[in-house]
Amino acid sequence: MIDPWSSAIVNYEKLIEEFGIKPFHDLLGDIENPHILMRRGIVFGHRDFGRIIKAIREKSEFAVVTGMMPSGKMHIGHKMIVDQLTWYQEKGAEIHIPIADMESYSARGIDFNEAKRIAIEEYITNYIALGLDPDNEKLHIYLQSENKIVGDLAYKLAKRVNMNEMKAIYGFSGSTNIAHIYAPLIQVADILHPQIKECGGPKPTVVPVGPDQDPHIRLTRDIAERFQSQFEFITPSSTYHRFITGLTGGKMSSSKPKTAIFLSDTPEVAEKKLKSAKTGGRESLEEQKKMGGVPEDCVVYEMLLYHLIQSDDELKEIYHQCQEGSIMCGECKARSAEMMKNFFKNFHKKREKAKDKAESILDL
Ligand code: SF4
Repeated sequence: MIDPWSSAIVNYEKLIEEFGIKPFHDLLGDIENPHILMRRGIVFGHRDFGRIIKAIREKSEFAVVTGMMPSGKMHIGHKMIVDQLTWYQEKGAEIHIPIADMESYSARGIDFNEAKRIAIEEYITNYIALGLDPDNEKLHIYLQSENKIVGDLAYKLAKRVNMNEMKAIYGFSGSTNIAHIYAPLIQVADILHPQIKECGGPKPTVVPVGPDQDPHIRLTRDIAERFQSQFEFITPSSTYHRFITGLTGGKMSSSKPKTAIFLSDTPEVAEKKLKSAKTGGRESLEEQKKMGGVPEDCVVYEMLLYHLIQSDDELKEIYHQCQEGSIMCGECKARSAEMMKNFFKNFHKKREKAKDKAESILDL
């Protein structure tokens, strides 16, 4: 029998082998009440996550760092990070959310004021509406350009990183502008700054990322080790989650609107988009009844798996109904699109409520 959580895992397994990322499911038994994304294998890998489990179990200090680059609209795939953050917040984490305005300036040409506006209206508002508690005293949301501790630390850390290393990791060339080259070092400092003495460190720190961010994690871990004797850094841990598939079958991307359901879409638009998504259905109804569908290749099923169905039993039932051909895509899509519409109705009410709070966080 195929495991309902296993869709498209093959490539991720290869990733685990090639880069030495450890499989997350080996740790599941040690985590009390793991997040749904962990339980379902969407968080599939980690480096040194055992430290974080220990800190959670012993109720000792630990930090989570995850940045947002304010450059465009948030889509439903971005919700995964916020879902993980709310889980960590419930587990007592200190949460740091750098707004990468320096990176969006150097990589995309967005000026600091515009980045701040996007961060508030789009990102922070959504984060609160998705469940992050803005009044938690261990939550720190800041603009990179305004955080002197991070800026100073980045400069110190840059002393032991050379150009050949940056070229090898990021593909920079002789024509890359210096601001762009410096931006990753600010991110390294974002991740490591909760560990300096002024910020109550050292302490275990975890960074939840997509696998494409791993080179950056490896650089940060290397730098942490280079400066271990000076700052007593604990090498940061990381977790890796699968990407969400776009509506047309490739990667979901904010720059390709046809692939994405945006968090700012109306409930009706979100419903319509899901109805037009690629499924794992067969050519004809007859064939589907006979052979069953392929939930592993179905964007609609993935939405249920990642976002829309909390009950594992309910999800398993849909998986098996699909596989055995007792449910057809038309009915399944209509039901899922209705769930999506209801999610968005509820979410938009929360967004409205979150707006003022989001503004007050950065004192616009
Ligand atoms: Fe996807 Fe549902 Fe069709 Fe199966 S029946 S392929 S889960 S839409």
